[in-house]
Amino acid sequence: AEMDVDTIWMDGEFVDWNDAQIHVLTHGLHYGSGVFEGIRCYDTENGPAIFRWDEHLDRLYASAKPYDLDIDYSRKELTTATTELIRRQGLESCYVRPIAFYGYDSLGVSPAGCPTQVAIACWPWGTYLGEEALEEGVDVMISSWRKHASSQIPTNAKTTGLYVNSMLAGEEARRNGYVEAIVLNKEGNVAEGPGENVFLVRDGEIYTPGLAESILDGITRQTVITLARERGYTVHHNAAISRGELYTADELFFTGSAAEVTPIRTVDDTQIGTGTRGPVTEDLQSAFFDLVERRVDDHDEWFHYVNE
Ligand code: PMP
Repeated sequence: AEMDVDTIWMDGEFVDWNDAQIHVLTHGLHYGSGVFEGIRCYDTENGPAIFRWDEHLDRLYASAKPYDLDIDYSRKELTTATTELIRRQGLESCYVRPIAFYGYDSLGVSPAGCPTQVAIACWPWGTYLGEEALEEGVDVMISSWRKHASSQIPTNAKTTGLYVNSMLAGEEARRNGYVEAIVLNKEGNVAEGPGENVFLVRDGEIYTPGLAESILDGITRQTVITLARERGYTVHHNAAISRGELYTADELFFTGSAAEVTPIRTVDDTQIGTGTRGPVTEDLQSAFFDLVERRVDDHDEWFHYVNE
């Protein structure tokens, strides 16, 4: 893909985009033994600002734990690498993708002997589900695939291998003419989207599945919960949501670093509420964009300014 970027940070060095290569017998390629992050850096009055960098770093190191993946770079090193990448390439806003994975040694399932490789790439990335999606909402289907149970794999870790499930669900949806999927967990309750958390609004109160429902604890999810509570909404952050409740919700929306806050207007062709962006969604969506684009000055602690 040709993008307006030319540099990647890999294993401690800045390398040309096309030279950021790995061996074909890389453990992570064969067994999905990598962990990663997806982060947005927003264009603000004070230059590019990485949103909730600290929390994303926390999650990266935490994701690595169950796999004994030893990320041999400090927070400071990864921070410097990232800010330097953004500055060097003159990016005003971008998506940031750190990844750590077991590299090449032997090809047994055991990663013993495999080095841990770490890379960071940044590139300009627009709206994830389409520009009009933010206003009009997206059409989604309930996937026929279920989420991994948290007893089968740590679903709270952002592991590369997990995303084949996301790919199956998302592509099934797109093959059927939908923009995105909602995936149920093994119990049949609402888990999340392939790369988004799900929120439901009913009678003015907000519900989102709890961590025991096999979800990734999204940082946008945490942000929206905080913003909603600050605005006086009651938020049920440990909800178990049945499939049926989706169809009768007043409003539904997705959250994610990529998807930001995206309304859902239909589920399985059933109109949600009025079939347009609902008032609570709109309220939280504006609060979110006002925050990340720094039109308000609250929660400055959530921003890592690249030029400081
Ligand atoms: N669930 C899954 C499966 C995801 O991949 C993502 C994107 N990282 C999310 C939820 C949303 O998480 P966040 O808000 O931290 O991007």
